[in-house]
Amino acid sequence: MSATIQDVTTRVASQPTLARRAKAFEASPWAEAWDLVSRHPDPIYFGNGAPAREAQPLDRLREAGARAWREADGVLDYGEVEGYRPLRELIAARLARRGMPVDPDEVMITNGSQQGIDFVARLMLDPGDQIVVEGPVYIGAMQTFDAYEARYLVVPVDDDGLDVAALDRLLSTTGARPKLIYTVPTFQNPTGITMTRARRESLLSLARERGILVLEDDPYGELYYGASPGAPLAALDPAVVHLGTFSKTIAPGIRVGWTVAPRRLMDLLLMAKEGSDIHTDRIITRTVYHTADGFLDDHIAALRELYRQRRDTLLAGLQRHLPPDLTWSCPGGGFFVWVRLPDGFDADVLLPIAAAHGVAYLPGSWFYPAGQKVHDGFRLSFSSLPIEQIEEGTRRLGEAIAAYIE
Ligand code: PMP
Repeated sequence: MSATIQDVTTRVASQPTLARRAKAFEASPWAEAWDLVSRHPDPIYFGNGAPAREAQPLDRLREAGARAWREADGVLDYGEVEGYRPLRELIAARLARRGMPVDPDEVMITNGSQQGIDFVARLMLDPGDQIVVEGPVYIGAMQTFDAYEARYLVVPVDDDGLDVAALDRLLSTTGARPKLIYTVPTFQNPTGITMTRARRESLLSLARERGILVLEDDPYGELYYGASPGAPLAALDPAVVHLGTFSKTIAPGIRVGWTVAPRRLMDLLLMAKEGSDIHTDRIITRTVYHTADGFLDDHIAALRELYRQRRDTLLAGLQRHLPPDLTWSCPGGGFFVWVRLPDGFDADVLLPIAAAHGVAYLPGSWFYPAGQKVHDGFRLSFSSLPIEQIEEGTRRLGEAIAAYIE
């Protein structure tokens, strides 16, 4: 007698034959802080790193989508693994304007930049391989690296970005041989900090000397609120693999990003893509192309204005309401401010107190690998909150910190 689906499901659940890497999938870190604060009748949640919903260009997407469907003859067949050529050309042209000329054949469309992280990790990491990450590091990247059973070398971020001298010392003293350096050099998630030009150059020369691949994740580079942060890291060295996304400039739900890599790596990345999901949705990539073409520059200019006001409100609120011995980053762009607590303070202990005051953030310890937790900071995201909530949120935060100190 053949087994029913029910039988099979029960059998799988009762026999723990899962791969070792499955432990990386046990829990999602994202929900916890929201769960705490959502018990408050009027919660203010600084944890959401998403773009503002009201900034999603829905009408433009609808029109572009209709056009994509009108052109759909043949588009619903399987297609090119690398993605829609006009979109790759548009991305290459935008990167060239930022000082990073690339061939459209070095651009692969992905399901968000998260998928690019996954493919590069898949290509580079055997279980137990070492990878250099910033401390603190983007949580989503750790979720991916955990799945490949990477071991982390955490290098602190200071006001100039990843501390390359500390990395050099770490590698020299331990003899560690990491394969990959993962960095968000511009408006970093979670600190908002941008790596200086000098640091970028020394990071690249260290990577070249030691034969380590650099993976640059750049979702925020175009969202600056004062001076432009300059060219991406990959503009300084074509060996760097560069990830970008339309998640922050158009909308995250469309899941369209890109990976730029040198040819020899790109050939392998394309096979990783083919083996994973064959290619990205052909209607949505055309929709994104018709949305972006002739529109994205003006849209991004409006986003800069919107987010600059939110950032300024947050920084002013912190100045007004937080005690003088706390410090925080002043990001030139992106979505995040990082608050540093004085010695002896613990952002994990403060979180439930803050939640009881109706405000929540993501504690710094979440942005470190297991066993290397650092508790003296937290991330505030200003991107998705209206001005009034940001103001009120900083006031509540000030009250919560006063209560914690007592
Ligand atoms: N990298 C970083 C640094 C991010 O902040 C995010 C979004 N939170 C991503 C990657 C994932 O973006 P996408 O929606 O393009 O997959």
